[in-house]
Amino acid sequence: MNLAVGSHNFSEALAQNELFARVGKCADELGVSVYVIGGFVRDLLLKRTNKQDLDFVCIGSGIALAQKVAESFEEKVPLSVFKNFGTAMIKVGDWELEFVGARKESYQRDSRKPIVEDGTLEDDLNRRDFTINAMAISLNQATFGQLIDPFDGQKDLKRRLIKTPLDPEVTFSDDPLRMLRAVRFATQLGFDIAPDTFDSIMNNAQRLEIISMERIIDEVNKIILTPKPSYGFKLLFVSKLLHQFFPEMVDLQGVETVQDKSHKDNFYHTLQVLDNVCTMSDDLWLRWAAIMHDIAKPATKRFNKKVGWTFHGHEEKGARMVPTIFRRLKLPLNEHMKYVQKLVRLHLRPIALVKDTVTDSAIRRLLFEAGNEVDDLMTLCRADITSKNDLKVKRFLENFDKVEQKMQEVEEKDKLRNFQPPVSGEDIMNAFKVQPGKEIGIIKERIREAILEGNIKNDRSEALQLMYEIAAELGLKR
Ligand code: ATP
Repeated sequence: MNLAVGSHNFSEALAQNELFARVGKCADELGVSVYVIGGFVRDLLLKRTNKQDLDFVCIGSGIALAQKVAESFEEKVPLSVFKNFGTAMIKVGDWELEFVGARKESYQRDSRKPIVEDGTLEDDLNRRDFTINAMAISLNQATFGQLIDPFDGQKDLKRRLIKTPLDPEVTFSDDPLRMLRAVRFATQLGFDIAPDTFDSIMNNAQRLEIISMERIIDEVNKIILTPKPSYGFKLLFVSKLLHQFFPEMVDLQGVETVQDKSHKDNFYHTLQVLDNVCTMSDDLWLRWAAIMHDIAKPATKRFNKKVGWTFHGHEEKGARMVPTIFRRLKLPLNEHMKYVQKLVRLHLRPIALVKDTVTDSAIRRLLFEAGNEVDDLMTLCRADITSKNDLKVKRFLENFDKVEQKMQEVEEKDKLRNFQPPVSGEDIMNAFKVQPGKEIGIIKERIREAILEGNIKNDRSEALQLMYEIAAELGLKR
């Protein structure tokens, strides 16, 4: 391999941050070569703002160099050493610096665990995932700022191409996660995947099975957090990577026609809803709600001669599928899962409120059920309008404006968004000297119903009065 130094010199760019010269000086004192490598170099060439992560590779001990760099500061900087991996990390302000010795890795077919040995810079760049990530800049004083770009990553940056440095079959069989990383970088950077690299992904998609779900979902979430995740999902679908971990989403694809009636392709519809949400919110979980909102459509699809295709109950069934899918994808089973579930369950409800004849009580019920999530629910509903007819889209959006206005009016009056029962179980037990039991539940539920129906105000004195009436009916004595 030709480790020729490129014509560029980056000493000026690196001078912006004193850390680079400092690391170079420490390496000179230890008599080792050191390079900044990977994402930082790529993003510098792309003039893209980099995360504050810096990866340094030295030809020698990464741990010894990290210790030397840490000691070079007057103040104490946190140093973490991972002996087993031969790496060390230090934190300087907002910067995270990771140090590792150059390594050579060899893989066996059925294991993700490589045999790792010390290696040259050439060995280290060979084991990188893509040409654009396999560039290094020297930091030693004598060669400060020189770019080393053995696979012409600069050319691929210009051509906007994701390409493996070695034969893709080798790169992907060594670590199949790299196939997902290819899609992730293509989506984040808006690049194409080189044809031979993509062919190899199609051939090897099934090999994703040896990768842990935690690593997979990490990449998938990065795809979801890009401005236009549909691009990444289309690549995942066409390459069949998606089939390996998210078959329910794959099942959304396809159009069936019976008696000249077709339904829409729910995969492409879902992707459009997702992209629409992304123009309105950066929230990962709202984006997941978009991905899941129609997930039960294939399971609830029916054809009816009079009305055509129906998907009755897909919102409820979809909500019930959320925990199973989250568990398998190793997504958190906490309030984020409940949030996604709630939005999937409620995503059709605002549409039912569009009618002029809608009652305050229907609005109160949705405010009560959606709680704090009502604004996100409305964002999802707006994103769910994917008609190609602009007039229709405009009309639907105006309808939602009206629904939101009604919601605001009702909320101002009744304060239901964060509903706290105006009479608590304890109030009831104290008033009637009863132990916890079913009467408490009955009274609380009837008070809540009366508020939602608008029979009493959401207010403590009216609720207390009703409590006494219901208690009397139930035969409770004060
Ligand atoms: P980002 O800024 O999005 O994190 P990055 O390129 O810094 O992008 P990392 O995952 O932090 O990505 O990896 C740092 C570098 O390590 C990469 O640029 C690449 O050279 C190398 N790398 C990371 N993971 C792999 C892998 N699975 N196979 C080969 N090389 C990898």
